[in-house]
Amino acid sequence: MLLNERTAAEYRYAVEQGALRVAARLEEVDAPFTGATPDELEAVIAGIDLETPLTGVAAALDEVEEIYLRDAVYFHHPRYLAHLNCPVAIPALLGEALLAPINSSLDTWDQSAGATMIERRLVEWTARRIRLGAGADGVFTSGGTQSNLQALHIARDEACARGADPADMRIFVSEAGHFSVKKAATLLGLAENAVVTIPCDPAMRMSPPILEHELTACQHVPMAVVATAGTTDFGSIDPLAQIAELCKRSGAWMHVDAAYGCGLLVSRKRRHLLAGLELADSVTVDFHKAFFQPISSSAVIVRDAQTLRHVTHHADYLNPKSSENPNQVDKSLQTTRRFDALKLWLTLRMLGADGIGDMFDRVIDLAAEAYEVVEADPRFEVAAKPALSTLVFRYRGDDEANRFARSALLASGEAVVAGTKLGGRQYLKFTLLNPETTREDVIEVLDLLAEHAAHFMSREEALA
Ligand SMILES: *Cc1c(COP(=O)(O)O)cnc(C)c1O
Repeated sequence: MLLNERTAAEYRYAVEQGALRVAARLEEVDAPFTGATPDELEAVIAGIDLETPLTGVAAALDEVEEIYLRDAVYFHHPRYLAHLNCPVAIPALLGEALLAPINSSLDTWDQSAGATMIERRLVEWTARRIRLGAGADGVFTSGGTQSNLQALHIARDEACARGADPADMRIFVSEAGHFSVKKAATLLGLAENAVVTIPCDPAMRMSPPILEHELTACQHVPMAVVATAGTTDFGSIDPLAQIAELCKRSGAWMHVDAAYGCGLLVSRKRRHLLAGLELADSVTVDFHKAFFQPISSSAVIVRDAQTLRHVTHHADYLNPKSSENPNQVDKSLQTTRRFDALKLWLTLRMLGADGIGDMFDRVIDLAAEAYEVVEADPRFEVAAKPALSTLVFRYRGDDEANRFARSALLASGEAVVAGTKLGGRQYLKFTLLNPETTREDVIEVLDLLAEHAAHFMSREEALA
């Protein structure tokens, strides 16, 4: 056999065996989790002798079953209702299966060829969906955290170009905004108190009058306002057009963190909820949330392609200044970079934008149904009407009962839900991203939560 024939045969065998194991596991999984504890898994994994390799694919897969597949948290299960992780679209998985073996790297043309053009087409497609205009550009990133960092990096350097001192810059974000904004401010060398938190209205949207007041009163340089289109806990969308107007007046860069709400870009029923997004200077989109893509897949899109120059640095060995090739590294914080765009490409080509949007619409509809169910249930109270596909609520009992219910449910493995805090109190949260989750699943999970919480309360009473 020729060398390449042998490699192809080995590859085919290993990957087919792996796919068969995963498929068998998917058929078998009847709960999102087994409830395995950190101690149990640590002990199993510590018991593996890394100095003694296994022989053969079957032995390796048997071991991976033991240490990973058996006790993984399965996002495709309809009772996984915790975080912004999605069950993944099959065309995207096909993309993942193709891009890993070819292993293109998107930093330079001479490591990617067509992959660079595919990524560029998708950036252009995304910018067009946002309606940012012909001068827009952007790049795929590892996630919303990196997209936010890059956007704020550009905003900082734009402010520097106008003579501002980073130590004197301020970023405005709502109290429901994502914590990665604070992280970015730190990484960008801004002052410790650089992030100014703006309170929200009862629907958890940034309050424009308060933002206006803070911008007017600001004795520093308003470097950027980060509006959130789809807050992580509430799905709320800040009033984008009003914020854009305030940014224009104050000279602040307008970044929109649409890591979650970007799914509305392909919604046939709800695209209008993103009105004003087209006024942004930069936008974060996370395809690995509302576009049903496997991790990682995200992008940062900017209105003015020229502003990407702030992350352009040249290396003689890679992308010399004289290079005439389309080198995506010139636009990215990363160097070696995955061809994540292929997953979205295949999803668009096989399901179509409407197909993705319909799935997102389905989970938003389900959240509205879940809201009605919880509202009508005297055991629970709801924090706010869902704007997208999350629902924040609490068991009518003390905070400890809510915390206990959540962790007891995780330990049982029967369902997984999230938790958050609001006004200092402990809440529970559903993040609905599985189009196959039903109203019945929601009702069942509520019953389980109520049972655990009631059990906790009665135990407390017995002890009192
Ligand atoms: C998830 C999320 C992020 C962070 O994105 P990662 O892909 O997890 O890095 C940022 N902003 C919002 C609003 C998010 O929901």
